Amino acid sequence: MYSSSEIIYLSEFQPIAAISTTPRGAKTLQPLCQNAGVTLWIPESIGDLDNTRVYRSSLKTHIASIWQQNRAFVFCLAAGAVVRLIAPLLEDKSIDPAVIVIDSRGRFVISLSGGHIGGADRLAELIASQIGATAILTGASAGLNLPGIDVLGTPFGWVRGEGDWTGVSAAIARQQTVQVIQEAGSTLWQKHLPSEHSFYFGFPKDTEDISPQARVWISFSKRKFVPTSDMPGIQWHPRVLWVGIGCERGTSRKLIETAIETVFKRYHLATEAIAGIATIDIKADEEGILELCRERNFPLKTFPATLLSQVEVPTPSTVVDREVGTPSVAEAAALLTQEKQTTLVVPKQIFKTDGEKGAVTVAIAIANIEYTARDGRLFLVGIGPGNLDQMTIAAKTSITEADAVIGYSLYTDLIAPLRRRGQIVESFSITQERQRAQRAIELAQWGLTVAVVSSGDCGIYGMAGLVLEELQLNEWDGNKPKVDVFPGITAMQAAAARVGTPLMHDFCAISLSDLLTPWKVIEKRLEAAAMGDFVTAIYNPRSARRTKQIAIAQQIFLKYRSPTTTVAIVRSAYRQDEQITLTTLDKMLLIPIDMLTAVLIGNGSTRNYANWMITPRGYLTEAFTSEGREQGEESGGQLEL
Ligand code: SAH
Repeated sequence: MYSSSEIIYLSEFQPIAAISTTPRGAKTLQPLCQNAGVTLWIPESIGDLDNTRVYRSSLKTHIASIWQQNRAFVFCLAAGAVVRLIAPLLEDKSIDPAVIVIDSRGRFVISLSGGHIGGADRLAELIASQIGATAILTGASAGLNLPGIDVLGTPFGWVRGEGDWTGVSAAIARQQTVQVIQEAGSTLWQKHLPSEHSFYFGFPKDTEDISPQARVWISFSKRKFVPTSDMPGIQWHPRVLWVGIGCERGTSRKLIETAIETVFKRYHLATEAIAGIATIDIKADEEGILELCRERNFPLKTFPATLLSQVEVPTPSTVVDREVGTPSVAEAAALLTQEKQTTLVVPKQIFKTDGEKGAVTVAIAIANIEYTARDGRLFLVGIGPGNLDQMTIAAKTSITEADAVIGYSLYTDLIAPLRRRGQIVESFSITQERQRAQRAIELAQWGLTVAVVSSGDCGIYGMAGLVLEELQLNEWDGNKPKVDVFPGITAMQAAAARVGTPLMHDFCAISLSDLLTPWKVIEKRLEAAAMGDFVTAIYNPRSARRTKQIAIAQQIFLKYRSPTTTVAIVRSAYRQDEQITLTTLDKMLLIPIDMLTAVLIGNGSTRNYANWMITPRGYLTEAFTSEGREQGEESGGQLEL
């Protein structure tokens, strides 16, 4: 099994090295290292500690020796010392690792270097969330609550192209107008910017007095920037171009690659925008294509002739049709990659070179949706009953980790303080449960890490079950997207904690909502719970429209339990307008009950003592005292409770 920290960290930042030179620092780092697969390095002088590795050279030499193998470094050391240690090793922010510094008491997590592309800002936020510390991010975009321009496209798998990245970042930091021309890729990011950003989207009209100071192209074309221009520009390339390939058997990788590059150059397209390669299934073992895909990390999509032959293409060929059973390979395959959502941008080009074996045809189609090259994930997250301090650390960290958060607007508002910059937050109205689930799945299948939030526990009358059911409808294989469920404190536990210890004996939960469950079934369960003397938590007790049910429930319980049975009515537990009343079964309807209320009905022995609801477990009975002692002796002194 894995721990929650492992769920969060492993994929993105590993391998991570942690370093401390003092026992106190090692202690601060140890919780991060125990299960997350982080290697904790300590000097010989600290002695032997669990889950650590000892370095014997000077720290400087040691860091230099492990610098290349790690993607992130977490130091529990004076920031100044860390600066001196890493200074000679830093090269360029496009390749440097993430460097984090934590103070020895674990109160602050500083993103020291490699904040954006290195991922240090995000790692610092995740570690801070895990250890209950404050993340310190000093980058300009963090100050403006904006995603870094050099990591903007990372969630969507975009590739950074040429440009003056420092110049554009500086313009953004100065809050100058930055023109964004987006010709491809998802525009979701635009909708989730803080309101005071300084981007200008598209081209200003003549009547507008706009003079951009920098430019961001998000496109599949390749632009050459004039080095002397005083308007810095950058380009991001969403991977939207599918390259259809047809080739003779035995064509070399080099020839295929040259063919692609030549065509891309001719049409001013960016090879960074290549999503992948498409061809006919009989080429699925074509070594040149396979080698190219392996080396460039391109997915390969292959289609049978029967499918290819149905696609309407501009340049069909009877010769090809006779040979392989479809008049088009390159064009048809490129067009099939995303079914109806692709258009041909470059028709078939035939490519040969003297002295090289084979011939290649290349066609290029553009897809509506970019290929992210990521395996999406779904986090099903319980955010607890209200106040954020009732939420588990794992659940909080999962929200910080997610690219997108989906939920009922009340709950997405509640967790607003946990959001990270650039995060996509989609709020839905209370009735749109299926839309929420379907949207989350859609985004995860596309490649994003998506958190679906529910109040309380997400798997108790929450969104988690619905998401899994929808996945099953989609013929999910159980792995893609990968699903993690993060439990939360459910209303029943929250209400119980506010009134004492009502759940100390067998209990059950029953929802009175008959929207999804026939009332007959609910009645049967109420009857069984009452008869079985279960302490019973009632969810969804009464709405404006549904008023009779709670009265029927009361009548059923009165058949089996005394009218003086203790009942707790807890409204909005752990929220600002919390209201708590202890009453009895016969009088419970005198207290206001609505959809924000949970009702706890005690069992035959539950009592109200000084306004505390106590359900005895039986420790104080004569029988337990003697039997317990015997059991304790039998099991080697361990009382079995
Ligand atoms: N997933 C949620 C339950 C959703 S059903 C959970 O695990 O708690 C909604 C019902 O939960 C409400 O009608 C109410 O009965 C109960 N509920 C949710 N939050 C509550 C709170 N803070 N205080 C009291 N009851 C609450």
